[in-house]
Amino acid sequence: MKGTFPIHKFRELETPFYYYDTNLLRHTLDTIRKEAGKYNKFCVHYAVKANANPKVLSIIRESGLGADCVSGGEIKAAIKAGFPANKIVYAGVGKTDAEINLGLDYDIFCFNVESVPELEVINELATAKGKIARVAFRINPDVGAHTHANITTGLAENKFGISMKDMDHVIDRALEMNNINFVGLHFHIGSQILDMGDFTALCNRINELQEKLYARQIIVEHINVGGGLGIDYAHPNRQPVPDFASYFETYHKHLKLRPQQTLHFELGRSVVGQCGSLITKVIYVKQGTNKQFAIVDGGMTDLIRPALYQAYHKIENITSDEATETYDVVGPICESSDVFGKAIDLNKVKRGDLIALRSAGAYGEIMASGYNCRQLPQGYTSDELV
Ligand SMILES: *Cc1c(COP(=O)(O)O)cnc(C)c1O
Repeated sequence: MKGTFPIHKFRELETPFYYYDTNLLRHTLDTIRKEAGKYNKFCVHYAVKANANPKVLSIIRESGLGADCVSGGEIKAAIKAGFPANKIVYAGVGKTDAEINLGLDYDIFCFNVESVPELEVINELATAKGKIARVAFRINPDVGAHTHANITTGLAENKFGISMKDMDHVIDRALEMNNINFVGLHFHIGSQILDMGDFTALCNRINELQEKLYARQIIVEHINVGGGLGIDYAHPNRQPVPDFASYFETYHKHLKLRPQQTLHFELGRSVVGQCGSLITKVIYVKQGTNKQFAIVDGGMTDLIRPALYQAYHKIENITSDEATETYDVVGPICESSDVFGKAIDLNKVKRGDLIALRSAGAYGEIMASGYNCRQLPQGYTSDELV
C-alpha cells in the first residue's frame, strides 16, 4: 500500500521538497495528549531538533506541548513559534556562555546540565544577572538501547551526561551554589527504541537512584526521561501513529514516582517522523551491467539518514502503477554513500516520475546541508497544498 499525495500540486513545485501531512501530525499530537493525559503529572515536550520547520513547530505548539532544545538557536526557534519559555528545557554537552545567557534571559524552565564545569558556568552567569537557574542533572544510566550505535546515548562510555557514581558529588556542588536551584534528574538513553524493555530498564535504574537520594532526604520535583520512542519505518501506513499507549503505560507501571513529582518526556522522532516525506523527481533511469539505477534529484544533502546511519526509508514511485521492477535509488551528490536504497522494488520508473521517501519527518529537513552548493529543500504542509 502506498501513501496518498496531492500529485497535481506536487507537479507545480520545484523538487526535491519535504511534504508534511498535517492531518497525521495533528492526529499524532491528539493521541499523545490523550495517552499522556491518562496519568496525572505526565508532561510532554517536543524535541525541536527532530524538525524545526516553523509551520510544523507552530502546529506542535498549538497542541500544548513544551519544547526540548539542544542549542540557543533552538531556544530562539521555539520562542518564535510561541512556546512559552516556562515550558522550555535545554540540554546539551557544550552549552556556550551566550547560549546559557539566552536561557537565563528568557527564564527557561530548566537547564539539563551535563557536567560540573557547565554547572559552575551557569552559576557564575546566573549570579552576574542576579538570577536563579533551575537545573536538572543529566545522569548517564548505563542502560543500552537496542538501536544503532550512533544513536545510543545512555551507555557508560559516552560524551553525554554525568555518570551515576558522580551523581552525589555533583548534587553536593549544586546545593552549595547560591544561584542554582537543583530541581530534577534527566535521562535520555537513545533514539528509535521500539523495545519497551529498554524503557523498563531505565525505570528500574531511576528507581534505584531515587532510593539513594531518598536516603539523603532528597526528593527532586522533576524526573525527565528524555525521548527515544521509535517509529515503524518499514510500514509507515500500517502504523502511522506510534504506540504511545504502551509507551506511557510502561513508565506508569515501572517508574516509582513520588506523589509530588512530575514526569517529563522529550519526544522527537515519534511526534513528527511519520508525517513527513521527501519528494524527489527521477532525472534519469540508467541501465547498469547487472542492475538499473533510478537517479533522482534529491540526495544525501536533503536526507542524510541513509548515508549516515544506514537508515531505511520506504521508497515509493507515487506517479506510476506499472508492474514493479528493481532499482538502486541514488542521488546526484559526488559521494558513493549517496544511495537511498539498493535493490528496491518500484512501480516501473521513467524520467520525470515522483518518488517519495517516507517517514522522513524527523531528522530529515533539519539535517539538510548545502554540500555541492545545493539549495536547501523547501518544506510544504498539506494545509498549504489544498
Ligand atoms: C534527541 C533528543 C531527544 C529526542 O529523541 P527522539 O529519539 O527523537 O525522541 C530527547 N532528549 C534529548 C536530550 C535529545 O538529545
